[in-house]
Amino acid sequence: PATLPALDASKLTVHTADPTAREVPDEATACSGNETICTDHMVTCKWTVAAGWEAPELKPYGPLTLMPTASVLHYATECFEGLKFFRGFDGKLRLFRPDLNARRMLMSTLRIALPGFDPKELEKLIIALVAKDGRKWLPRDRPGSFLYIRPAVIGTQPQLGVQAPKEALLFITASFMPRMDSPAGGMKLHTSPEDMVRAWVGGFGYAKVGANYGPSLLATAEARARGYGQILWLYGPEGYCTEAGASNFFVVWRAKDSGKLQLVTAPLDDKLILDGVTRRSIVELAKIRLPSELEVVERRYTIDEILEADGEGRIVEAFAAGTAFFICPVSAIHHRGKDITIPMSKTGESGLYTAKIKGWMKDIMYGNEQHEWGVVV
Ligand code: PMP
Repeated sequence: PATLPALDASKLTVHTADPTAREVPDEATACSGNETICTDHMVTCKWTVAAGWEAPELKPYGPLTLMPTASVLHYATECFEGLKFFRGFDGKLRLFRPDLNARRMLMSTLRIALPGFDPKELEKLIIALVAKDGRKWLPRDRPGSFLYIRPAVIGTQPQLGVQAPKEALLFITASFMPRMDSPAGGMKLHTSPEDMVRAWVGGFGYAKVGANYGPSLLATAEARARGYGQILWLYGPEGYCTEAGASNFFVVWRAKDSGKLQLVTAPLDDKLILDGVTRRSIVELAKIRLPSELEVVERRYTIDEILEADGEGRIVEAFAAGTAFFICPVSAIHHRGKDITIPMSKTGESGLYTAKIKGWMKDIMYGNEQHEWGVVV
């Protein structure tokens, strides 16, 4: 009912952790173990069907308590987001298009029958956490560094039975995350096993729900054992290329018919892929900044088209794009016994367009370019 309290960031209560209790590790140390190192604080907010959203809390980072019968533990009533905040070369702290993450989280939340909220309020809560911990955990003497923000919503109702949860919890953490955008020699992809798809028409592959990720781990583990970093998920008997691991996938090729240089990526309207913030930003920037040089094409395309383009020497570059991997050059794709080698320059560096687009994005994220996508905190 509309009369129940909505999510309201202005009601945030703050309980500050002892600032001397923990020291900030350096990035390498923080990313070397098997545990994600979070900052001093987190945000939590409870919801119940009877009372709506409670006042959100900003409090010391620590464990959540859940009953073993909690909905999320049985029925995957969980969705999440991932975005970074950056310490700019101008000394400022910035988020990159957090409005898009907040809107996507609302979409994911509703998809799994968890309660809605105004995405602007979620954005304000994210900003509150960055404002609280950013200064200490991303110190000014570390320009060019970032931390990772993980908002999530889970169904907490402690009752077994398949139903929309009557209780939920929203929480936001900030943590270290390793840099994954430049593996030596580029990212090597392995196409998905013949008997597996990540997403399907009518499914939920477009939502950032945990249920999309657990079942993808087996294929990824098998690919890793064969020396490949991520799965290139194909769809349908046609073998449509969709996404690469937890990132969107782009190819630069010369079109078969027109010979034009194209930046190709899977379309959103099939609802098979996540509407990546990185993907969307790349598409928008390439359209504005390389209008006559590179044609941006969002369409279905198959692995056979890639094989054909490879055979005809038309592949120019390929890269994976997402928050975790940022913009990561792809150097090889393995498909059913065949290896496609993607040209990367002889030094092993990424291709020209990959580097150019990555440079633009970095400049916005780290404040070398003042841009409306960079939200200063
Ligand atoms: N696809 C999937 C399946 C993902 O999990 C992600 C990471 N959120 C992406 C693509 C990239 O999205 P973004 O650029 O918003 O990180």
